[in-house]
Amino acid sequence: MKKEGELKGKAAIVTGSTSGIGHGIARALAREGCHVMINGFGDDETIQAIQEEIAEMGVKVTYSAADMRKPDDIEAMVAIANRRLGSVDILVNNAGIQHVAPVHEFPIEKWDDIIAINLSSAFHTMRAALPLMVNEGWGRVINIASAHALVASPFKAAYVAAKHGIAGLTKTAALEMAEKNITINAIAPGYVKTPLVENQVADTARTRGISEDEVVRDVMLAAQPTKRFVTIDQVADLAVYLCRESAASITGSVISIDGGWMAK
Ligand code: NAD
Repeated sequence: MKKEGELKGKAAIVTGSTSGIGHGIARALAREGCHVMINGFGDDETIQAIQEEIAEMGVKVTYSAADMRKPDDIEAMVAIANRRLGSVDILVNNAGIQHVAPVHEFPIEKWDDIIAINLSSAFHTMRAALPLMVNEGWGRVINIASAHALVASPFKAAYVAAKHGIAGLTKTAALEMAEKNITINAIAPGYVKTPLVENQVADTARTRGISEDEVVRDVMLAAQPTKRFVTIDQVADLAVYLCRESAASITGSVISIDGGWMAK
């Protein structure tokens, strides 16, 4: 059940919130009255515009340029959020990148970056934020995984490995925090039309030797029985739901939002 204003005044960090799904989640949490720390790359105007958009909802907003490949940056980001926003109640590990290539041609630096950003950063943020949540006696961690946390696709070795890893990390941390009023879950979206997916269309077309239209129809939407992209707002609404008291018994779950992909 939705209680009006129940998330008002909570403080949230959303990694990778200068674009796509993270931006949508930051907006949705601010709409619920949460103070928000934005993070991610982008030009100054984009970052400024997102901060203004969030501030207009009457909440505190702050920005961290922390690079999710760097543990020291991450530790500092969590400390700064705690200081500027007053606490860290909600942590959304969303930052992510993709690279498409066969295993034997996969660039080593891309492998390292994907494992660092899509998996290890969630360990580093949790390491810093969980003690703060334990002190407050309440917390929510939401890891943005992927359908690729549950199944594989060819040419996405690093991404699939990182996302399967985030599912394991989610379950382990959830067990450790189960009696602390802190829930830790992963959301596993199918294809959502964001810059990450739009860039992938061209790369996948090249790797598979097919046209971009064929990638959308025969690779992406073929995976999803609804034949529709999942929307950013649908994922953001699910993240907000997981923060509510009515979701207090959901922990250690990997929740699919994928147009039926996992039912096949
Ligand atoms: P996006 O490219 O629109 O946004 C990615 C965000 O991560 C950006 O804000 C970017 O600046 C940030 N980022 C990248 N590298 C970073 C770094 N080193 N340090 C800090 N921030 C960094 O992508 P998106 O589609 O919104 O993806 C968000 C998350 O959702 C990712 O974890 C992705 O794997 C996951 N996901 C996306 C889809 C999809 O179809 N779009 C499906 C399933 C899961």
